[in-house]
Amino acid sequence: AKKTGRNNFQFYSADMNAQASLRLAMETALRRAVEQEEFFIHLQPQIDLDTGKMNGAEVLLRWNSTQWGLVSPADFIPILEDTGMIESVGEWVLKQACQCFLNIKHKLAEDFKLAVNLSGRQFKGGNLASRIRYILAETGMPTKNLELEITETMLMEDPELATLTLSELSEMGISLAIDDFGTGYSSLSYLKQFPLNVLKIDSSFIRDVTTDKDDAAIVNAILAMTESLGLIVVAEGVETNEQLNYLRQHTCQCAQGYLFSKPVSEEAFYELAEKETLI
Ligand code: C2E
Ligand code: CA
Ligand code: CA
Ligand code: CA
Repeated sequence: AKKTGRNNFQFYSADMNAQASLRLAMETALRRAVEQEEFFIHLQPQIDLDTGKMNGAEVLLRWNSTQWGLVSPADFIPILEDTGMIESVGEWVLKQACQCFLNIKHKLAEDFKLAVNLSGRQFKGGNLASRIRYILAETGMPTKNLELEITETMLMEDPELATLTLSELSEMGISLAIDDFGTGYSSLSYLKQFPLNVLKIDSSFIRDVTTDKDDAAIVNAILAMTESLGLIVVAEGVETNEQLNYLRQHTCQCAQGYLFSKPVSEEAFYELAEKETLI
C-alpha cells in the first residue's frame, strides 16, 4: 500500500479494503447461492386503476444469505451483473416465475401478465430468445402471460441486437416493457423503433407528482405520449392515496407500489389474488 502522512487516507484505504473483501466474499457466496437454495422470488401486484383488480405482477429476486441474511438487490444484483452470473441466475428466476405462475394460474385473469426483469448481460449472449423459448416450453408457461422488463440503456448499448432479439420475443407473443422510463437515454425515437407494449414510469417521477410542478409536467407528457403511441403505462412506486388520485385523474391505466402491496411470497400472493380489489 501507498505510504501517506494523512490519516484520513489510511482510513479511506482500510475502508476500501474492507469493501473489496466484502464484495469478494459475497461473490463467492453468490456462486453457490442457487445450489444452497438461498435465492427465492417475491411478487408485487400491478393494479388496473379502472377496476382496482390485479392484472399483473412483477417478479423480484431475493437473496437470503446464511452469512448476511437478506441482502438488498441493490447490493447483490450488480455483483451478479459484473461477474456474468446474472445470465444463469436470470434463467433461474424465469423458471421459478413460470412455475409460480402455473401454481396460481387458476386464481388469475386470462390476460394476467407476469413481468420478469432482464439484465443487459442476458441480451449479450446473443441467443436470448431461443433460451427463453426453451424455458417456456420446458415449464409449460403460456407466452401470452409473460412480460419482460428491459431498460433504456440495454436497448441503446446495441440497438441492432436489441431490435433482433425483441422482435423475436415479440413474435413469440411475449409482452415487452420498458422499465425505469425517464432515467436512461433521452432519445424517444426508440419507442417506435422497438416492438414495445408497456412503459413503466420510474418512481422518481411519481414520488412528488402531487407537489412538484416539473414532475407533474413530465408524468403528464409521458401519459399523453403513451396514449398516442398505444402503449400501456404503469406508474411505479405509488405509496399514497394522493398519488393514486392524481394518476387516476390523469388517466394512468396501471400502477404498482406499496400502497397496494409490497412484493410478497408466493403464498401471500395467492391470497392477494383471491381479493376482489386491491384499492
Ligand atoms: P426495479 O425493476 O425498478 O424494481 C422495483 C423496485 O421498487 C423493487 O425493489 C421494489 O421492491 C421497489 N418498490 C416497489 N414498490 C415500491 C414503493 O411503493 N416504494 C418504494 N420505495 N419502492 C418500491 P427491489 O426488489 O429492491 O429491486 C431493486 C432492483 O433490483 C430492481 O428495480 C431491479 O432493477 C433489480 N432486480 C430485482 N430482481 C431482479 C431480477 O430478477 N433480475 C434482474 N436483472 N434485476 C432484478
Ligand atoms: Ca423492473
Ligand atoms: Ca422499475
Ligand atoms: Ca429501478
